[in-house]
Amino acid sequence: MNPTSRRALPSVDRLAAALASSPLPRPFVVHHIRQLLADYRDHPDTPIPTFDRLVEQLRTQLATVARSRLQPVINATGVLAHTNLGRAPLAPDAVTQLHAIAQGYSNLELDLDSGQRGSRGVYLESALALLCQSQAATLVNNCAAALVLALRHFTRGTRREVIISRGELVQIGGGFRIPEILEASGARLREVGTTNRTSISDYARALGPDSALVLKVHRSNFYMEGFVESPSTRELASLAQSRAVPLLEDLGSGALVDLRATANLEPEPQPHQILDAGADLVCFSGDKLLGGPQCGILAGQRDAIESLKSDPFFRALRCDKLVHAALQATVEVYLGAHGVSRSDLPAIPMLRLLVTPPAELRRRAETLTQSLADLPLEAHIIEAEARIGGGVCPRSTLPSIALRLRPHQLAPDTFASRLRAGSPPVIPVVADHAVLLHLRTVLPDQDSLLAPAIRTALTTADPT
Ligand SMILES: *Cc1c(COP(=O)(O)O)cnc(C)c1O
Repeated sequence: MNPTSRRALPSVDRLAAALASSPLPRPFVVHHIRQLLADYRDHPDTPIPTFDRLVEQLRTQLATVARSRLQPVINATGVLAHTNLGRAPLAPDAVTQLHAIAQGYSNLELDLDSGQRGSRGVYLESALALLCQSQAATLVNNCAAALVLALRHFTRGTRREVIISRGELVQIGGGFRIPEILEASGARLREVGTTNRTSISDYARALGPDSALVLKVHRSNFYMEGFVESPSTRELASLAQSRAVPLLEDLGSGALVDLRATANLEPEPQPHQILDAGADLVCFSGDKLLGGPQCGILAGQRDAIESLKSDPFFRALRCDKLVHAALQATVEVYLGAHGVSRSDLPAIPMLRLLVTPPAELRRRAETLTQSLADLPLEAHIIEAEARIGGGVCPRSTLPSIALRLRPHQLAPDTFASRLRAGSPPVIPVVADHAVLLHLRTVLPDQDSLLAPAIRTALTTADPT
């Protein structure tokens, strides 16, 4: 038959039968087959390949789709709260609670004493308040949502202005820009000071009858040095209070432990310190340093929290039972940890990754390199730097240990893409003509998966 004749195309059923081993649901397989066949019909001059070639083409496409399904990966990037990799791994207690709540019914909004409707998360909110040493606390979908809620809420009346330093109009991660969030919330932005210097008198001059809120944003992912100035939370709080305008501080990550004492890092502001200094409210992420599920925590004055919770918009931002389950268990780990001493830290994976001594990472790296001895690659153990990520401690790096791998026959980029195509995928860093695997972010029980993953990546064909 003429190879460009469309009648040479096989049937959908025949192709689907040949692809029956694909892990994807059949409608996905059929959809891709139909698309490919339609492509050939739309391009009548393209010769039609053999049946086997068509199957091969589809297999490759479907493998790419299958890889894109949400699945566990090994984080060897050295970035602890990696947003692309789902940020914090949960504590075992959180996973257990998640499982228990997920598989059945729960008292999410039922008061078990009265048998009547109760309010969601009363216990969790009081636990969060204890943790933050605040009058009250609540949670929404993420820190961005907490910010939008607060901005909308406080600017809904006649006062519309939010006062913020020009040095804090920052972009955090992909597409999260403070000025845009402000605009989207319907708030009017009142910028004060300059990029590098904002004084308390700049705020004092800007505060007026239109002022609805003073917003202080933790700069997170960058720092300024040199001719810089910004008032402390205490100074700002006292000014805001004297003008009867609330002060909200967006802490971004919100460290619940003293990072200097636990990991010798630059100090991140702790929620209780900021509230103690006089801020009315703080907000921070649940899945950065806290090490819990994605959510945004708001803590502070009871009136302010109650008022935010009564905003109709709050309903659109509330968290589901799975987040409640995981966060409740995570917060209980902190509350049970008596001041969170070093020995209690390991219960929160995020903190355990943070405090693992480099010597321990080196021992793991040595074991690993031994199992690679027979492979066609150069493997060295090097000192490297890990980062917290998620905008935490931009100045600090954590001493880390990495495996530096250089395959004899493969370009580093190819090797890296094969590692990502593995099962489980390993996410490395390509630098200096080599592939680096940072052990600080590899969970210890994943070590045994690394050597086979490296072996497979060296010996299998390219993921296409
Ligand atoms: C990370 C960050 C946010 C966004 O937090 P999400 O929980 O991802 O919405 C907001 N503000 C600051 C200062 C941050 O560092």
